[in-house]
Amino acid sequence: MKCQRCSKSAVIYQKYSNAHLCKSHFIEDVERKIKRDIRKFKMVGKDEKIAIALSGGKDSIALVYILHKIFRNRPDLEFVAITIDEGIKGYRENTLEHAIKLTGDLGMRHIIRSFKDEFETSLDALTREKMNRACTLCGVLRKNILNKTARELGANKIAIGHNLDDESQTILMNYMRGDIDRLKRMIPGTIQKGMVPRIKPLRSIPEKEVALYGLLNNLPVSMDECPYAGFALRNEIRELLNNYEVNHPGTKYSLLGGYESISEFLHPADTQIVFCEKCSEPGSERICKTCRLLGRK
Ligand code: SF4
Ligand SMILES: [Zn+2]
Ligand SMILES: [Zn+2]
Repeated sequence: MKCQRCSKSAVIYQKYSNAHLCKSHFIEDVERKIKRDIRKFKMVGKDEKIAIALSGGKDSIALVYILHKIFRNRPDLEFVAITIDEGIKGYRENTLEHAIKLTGDLGMRHIIRSFKDEFETSLDALTREKMNRACTLCGVLRKNILNKTARELGANKIAIGHNLDDESQTILMNYMRGDIDRLKRMIPGTIQKGMVPRIKPLRSIPEKEVALYGLLNNLPVSMDECPYAGFALRNEIRELLNNYEVNHPGTKYSLLGGYESISEFLHPADTQIVFCEKCSEPGSERICKTCRLLGRK
């Protein structure tokens, strides 16, 4: 099949837009959507220091590469990659290597923090008898270290590699749970005391396209899956949405677009931020989630 914009062979068929694209037009399309969102949601300002959450998985690898590519001629901006080693044996070692290689190649500052240094434990040790809680623990503890590290660095923003699939799954999950507070916190540009604001430049790029973008750019793309991924509740939603997308292409974009429209009517998150009595980190209760999960007395 030929690319619809030139005569070269297509590398992808985007069912949702009924477009066949060759390698260069596909790369152009991905980068155009990312630049559009960065402008639309004012993700990057002048003289900013931006921390990038770099797990070393395909999404965050692509994110580091793209941000570097788009902003390499902006001397007023500084990007610092942060990798958190949760202690997941047989998985994190590989992605960590990819993260070190990419930041080395791009000459980007790279900070590595671990659950071991911060909490004197590992995700493997914490979840030995509670495999189904791995993602909750992992998410909360990682967010804690990421926010603390970015704040210490004086970063204005934290860039996260969430793609269209992640965003549409989260929106649907929050609708199904009726969790309006979380929906409010997802509004781009939401500011919460003590929390470094998050930006999601890949929010409009489908997961498969992020992977293809990485492959076509020879990025170190790992197809390994975290051993705990199968236990996540999110899996049911992922499967449901992927099946729906096959018969109704564009559903993921519709969820994102619909959410953007209703978010204009949602008042900003009014969750009262309090600082934890144990560790002084911001949270919504007297004892923060990290301290509760770690059983800090
Ligand atoms: S799948 Fe779950 S446990 Fe594995 S890295 Fe992601 S959030 Fe952490
Ligand atoms: Zn083309
Ligand atoms: Zn705490």
